[in-house]
Amino acid sequence: MSYCRLCETVFPTPAELEAYLNAYIADLPQEERAEESVMAHRLAQCRACPHLRIATCSLCGCYVQARCAKSRLRCPATSPRW
Ligand code: SF4
Repeated sequence: MSYCRLCETVFPTPAELEAYLNAYIADLPQEERAEESVMAHRLAQCRACPHLRIATCSLCGCYVQARCAKSRLRCPATSPRW
């Protein structure tokens, strides 16, 4: 983890963030989780999207990996990519 002494935010390392998101997705109830192929398609769209900021969607503020994993959620863009 890294720490910003100005805003006192503690930032996870990329590996810590990945582990957190994987655990978060694994804990989603099966009925709320999108199919693996759907998640993969959604993540591919996010990776090619100009609104992606590292791991976060700049339109909604979600970690895209978590958003893509939830079956009921949609891309928040005016012209949704998924
Ligand atoms: S606008 Fe849609 S496709 Fe782009 S990063 Fe956000 S969720 Fe992903």
